Amino acid sequence: MSLQTNDYDVVVIGYGGAGASAAIEAHEAGARVLVLEKAAEGGGTTAMAGGNIRTVRDADKMIKHFHTLCEGTTDLASVEAHVRGLIDLPAWIEKCGGVIAPDKKKVSGPPVVGPPYPRETPGTLFPRVEGADGVGVRYRWPQQNGHDRGAAGYAMLARNVAQRGIDVVTGARVTSLVRDGVTGRVSRVHAEHDGEKIQIDARGGVVLASGGYSWDAELLRDTIGAVLPSASPPHRNTGDGVRIAQAVGAGLWHMGAAVLQLGVVVPDYEASFGLKVRERGFVLVDRLGQRFCDETNLAGHDGGVLLDDRDLRGAVRKRLPSYLVFDEATRLAGPVVTPDRGFNRDSGWSDDNSVPVERGWIASAPTVRGLAGKLGLDSDELTRTIDTYNRGAAAGHDAYGRAAAECTPLEDGPFYGIAVWPCILNTQGGPRRSPAGHILDPWGTPIPGLFGAGELGSIWNTLYPGGVNYGEALISGRVAGASAVGVVPS
Ligand SMILES: Cc1cc2nc3c(=O)[nH]c(=O)nc-3n(C[C@H](O)[C@H](O)[C@H](O)COP(=O)(O)OP(=O)(O)OC[C@H]3O[C@@H](n4cnc5c(N)ncnc54)[C@H](O)[C@@H]3O)c2cc1C
Repeated sequence: MSLQTNDYDVVVIGYGGAGASAAIEAHEAGARVLVLEKAAEGGGTTAMAGGNIRTVRDADKMIKHFHTLCEGTTDLASVEAHVRGLIDLPAWIEKCGGVIAPDKKKVSGPPVVGPPYPRETPGTLFPRVEGADGVGVRYRWPQQNGHDRGAAGYAMLARNVAQRGIDVVTGARVTSLVRDGVTGRVSRVHAEHDGEKIQIDARGGVVLASGGYSWDAELLRDTIGAVLPSASPPHRNTGDGVRIAQAVGAGLWHMGAAVLQLGVVVPDYEASFGLKVRERGFVLVDRLGQRFCDETNLAGHDGGVLLDDRDLRGAVRKRLPSYLVFDEATRLAGPVVTPDRGFNRDSGWSDDNSVPVERGWIASAPTVRGLAGKLGLDSDELTRTIDTYNRGAAAGHDAYGRAAAECTPLEDGPFYGIAVWPCILNTQGGPRRSPAGHILDPWGTPIPGLFGAGELGSIWNTLYPGGVNYGEALISGRVAGASAVGVVPS
């Protein structure tokens, strides 16, 4: 739609999970709400996500656990607000006409022995940190109205926005905010729409819910230290909200944190594919052609392991990229990525990996030595690495502690290899916010009229327990939307 007026109570910036939830809640509280979205349609990362949401088994333990994982970077009240929001979330989703159900695979508690790699981990990714047993299983979105996973959640939100007649303008990129010269209140939004500059007045408040900076090279280089591929929709989350908030005096937090998944990037597809290997005949090697871990003990969010181990004197990251090396049996066992999830669902990645091999996305050669040449690795070193791994597998003793049952020798070619990167699911940094969603200045004082939600300025830091950003988008969106009209969400 085009703008009917330029005078609203609440203006929400970004139409993903956080923005939609904020709009619904502000509208419920009686506000006239406008949502501005820079892309041609809403959804953002939310609509491409797995959509897993944590349940609460024991709130006190869960709060303790999450607060510990934040390592002092997030105040206790913010963690408490999040867990309270998680408790309320299923009822709110039901009220919105959505359906979520516990992940059946994980209901019964003990470790799920799934595909050997990455290993499925029940509950939190940090089972040895206090309070871990307070974290419940994940909720998932069953298939509904043609949508599943994160897309089902976004479809529910978009339906609720539409039913309420909330104004949504797409193709509108917000560029800056204006603070009132007398009160200091954020009261006006500047944006570009249809090639024109527009300005909208926001009497009550502005909710910044524009996602993170997975697609902003400058911010990634400055904060995480490397420009990494991302699994989220290309070029949407470019850190606009960070800069917009900074320009009106916001303090920042969690800028060095991102959720990293092991993944691959192939020509013609900008977004990354998540890695998932179904058979045991494989290893991961670094740029020197050497193994560095028990590959079967990595979980879906352990991509950060590839950022570790910098060569100090050589000023290089030895594992950026690393390489998945596997044999014919592993090729035939199933796709080495999750082609049915995320942004690249149309890629045609075949179950036996033959299409990516034919397209040259996966390198192949009759011998390990030949494969090394194709991957640009030292052939003597890679041959030595595979020989050592195979000898360990035969003897039942792996140098990196990989269990004997998980070690299958790579004996029969052809052999295959593909570069593996730490790929960003989402970033966590952005404007610091209070438990009530107020964006704070560097001294901790709320900036009047400015609210934040979602992965932009998330409460999470670098230790990510898994499945807590999607729920946070909805919870913090609700809180920010209600706070923008001066009420606490019920
Ligand atoms: C493949 C994948 C799987 C995931 N799975 C899970 C999971 O299972 N569980 C979990 O907890 N988390 C998961 N996540 C992360 C989680 O989904 C996101 O962190 C969350 O959905 C972010 O919601 P959001 O509303 O903050 O941002 P988004 O949904 O990204 O929405 C932000 C919106 O703001 C818009 N925008 C940006 N700049 C501007 C601007 N200047 N003006 C106007 N609009 C702007 C963007 O275009 C975008 O539409 C996953 C992420 C990915 C990529």
